[in-house]
Amino acid sequence: MGRRRDSHRDLARVEARHEYDHEYLDVVSGPPPWPPSVRAHHDLTRRQLGGRYYAELIFALLHVWVEPQRAQVTWSAITAHRAALTEALGRRVDVTVAAVDYATHISGEVPSPVIVPKSFFDDAARLATHDRMTGLYDHSTFRLRLDEELRRADRYGGSVSVLMIDVDEFKRFNDTHGHPAGDRVLIALARRVCACVRDLDHVARYGGEELVIVAPRTGPDAARCLGERVRRSVEASLPITISVGVASAPPARSAPALIEAADAALYTSKARGRNRTTSHTELALG
Ligand code: GH3
Ligand code: MG
Ligand code: MG
Repeated sequence: MGRRRDSHRDLARVEARHEYDHEYLDVVSGPPPWPPSVRAHHDLTRRQLGGRYYAELIFALLHVWVEPQRAQVTWSAITAHRAALTEALGRRVDVTVAAVDYATHISGEVPSPVIVPKSFFDDAARLATHDRMTGLYDHSTFRLRLDEELRRADRYGGSVSVLMIDVDEFKRFNDTHGHPAGDRVLIALARRVCACVRDLDHVARYGGEELVIVAPRTGPDAARCLGERVRRSVEASLPITISVGVASAPPARSAPALIEAADAALYTSKARGRNRTTSHTELALG
């Protein structure tokens, strides 16, 4: 299956929503007939995602990412191996057993598999992708999620917005109340922001006292509304205020351009007196 490993990306994949449970994988790797709902889901997803669908199935089984161009061939090899083992042993062989045997003894992709409880594995993935203090995504996971959302928007259309959030005069807050109190405020801020966003939005700690929201399927106007909702909610419930900078793609085209535009809007919120939301579209208008 040879490929360059990117452990962080793989752990971020593990940590994200699991679409294929064991039962589903067991059915679609076995002989027909499949239950109609499984057949319908399989056919539809395969049409939508192509080779990526098979890469996701393999990843759900082995936590190894196979390039989508080769994934269907690899998936066929795993299912054929399962059928051969079933035949040889004269009894049903679980898809996980077949996949591990294939990856250990045939393709060599997983030369020394380790069995761990799923909860342990999930915790490890979470620790590798989240900021310990706030429980939000860390910076590198933010970048992965942003890239994914931009790719999705490219493929299916629609906008993606980024909202940069920076605590106002936080140095002074720390100087007055102490760093432990400042830490508690950051934790409360993280919770407040998460309470204001939708399930499909991603909230991350950009660094220090700066948070960032990635809002998929959200254009400039809706993103500005979200920024104001978060800002007002913080003002009403916490002993600090925040400034917000908003930018959207389109018109921005790449992740760096989007981040830069949101940063410029945030800088303008600060320059105009803090505790406000500025959209990059306003800057463009002058
Ligand atoms: P501005 O309104 O211009 O953003 O002013 P500011 O004081 O917030 O900005 P500045 O960048 O000068 O300072 C950021 C402060 O945030 C400095 C640092 O002590 C504080 N900070 C960053 N990370 C943490 C953290 O994890 N805990 C605490 N308590 N403070 C932090
Ligand atoms: Mg700052
Ligand atoms: Mg600040």
